[in-house]
Amino acid sequence: MQNITVIGAGTMGNGIAHVFAMNGFKVNLVDISEEGLQKGIATIGKNLDRMVRKEKISEDDKAATLSNLQTFTSLEASGIEHADLVIEAATENVNIKLKIFEQLDQLCKKTAILASNTSSISITKIGGATKRPEQVIGMHFFNPVPVMKLVEIVRGHATSKATMLGIVGLAEQLGKTPVEVHDYPGFVSNRVLMPMINEAIYTLFEGVADVEAIDAVMKLGMAHPMGPLQLADFIGLDVCLSILQVLQHGFGNPKYAPCPLLVNMVMAGKLGRKSGEGFYKYDQ
Ligand code: NAD
Repeated sequence: MQNITVIGAGTMGNGIAHVFAMNGFKVNLVDISEEGLQKGIATIGKNLDRMVRKEKISEDDKAATLSNLQTFTSLEASGIEHADLVIEAATENVNIKLKIFEQLDQLCKKTAILASNTSSISITKIGGATKRPEQVIGMHFFNPVPVMKLVEIVRGHATSKATMLGIVGLAEQLGKTPVEVHDYPGFVSNRVLMPMINEAIYTLFEGVADVEAIDAVMKLGMAHPMGPLQLADFIGLDVCLSILQVLQHGFGNPKYAPCPLLVNMVMAGKLGRKSGEGFYKYDQ
């Protein structure tokens, strides 16, 4: 695999493009928004500068990485027919993703592998939008992508072993640690993480302790680098809510029901770090 197309230049898409380009792959970054592309490239530039300052890479490595990147606002114009692998990191919305995969199936060469970075949508469902479900797989990177080692490789019901092995090898080539999981709601990461975050919110809701105390217990007692409420703010409370709803509906089990406080905070627009306020307040 040499030619990679990344769809979506947001938080995750620009990180994924950064990592592939830094490892010598030719990357076409596609977003429907020109502004999104410009922001994405600016973020990659800033992150590369930081790596140069920390002497993790040289100025030449930075220049080589940037020269591996091209941006496009339309899939058709992006030379998608040459892509060996497409990684979709567009907005987490099932209809957007199904439409993109339908289109990819028509435009990409027969051997191309189609991957999604979705946090919660079924890979089996996404594969069903194509005529090549055996070549559709989840490649779930973590934020910030250039730093985080894990890639959760999600094998849909129809994903072939060959596709899975190819993507595992590719993740290793990027210096990441792939972990294979099957396609059930929340995969492993969010199925284990989100109930913990929800329980921390319930603990606050029921007045057992305040925000700082709950986070201090989990940081100092369990050696978590960040408390669950701070982590929820970092992920985005709207994202946490939507993943809990996927777990609740996917398993039909009320144990995943989101805490009413989380629902209220999202309705009030308190989405965490990105909106300036969640469990904590954030300024510039
Ligand atoms: P984001 O909102 O930062 O970026 C999404 C980008 O997709 C935007 O730039 C938007 O313009 C673009 N987009 C929307 N529709 C498009 C289309 N049809 N074609 C091309 N581009 C399109 O979102 P994000 O946080 O980067 O999340 C992207 C994906 O990664 C989601 O599936 C999300 O679940 C997953 N994910 C996010 C995180 C995280 O911490 N943010 C972690 C792991 C996985």
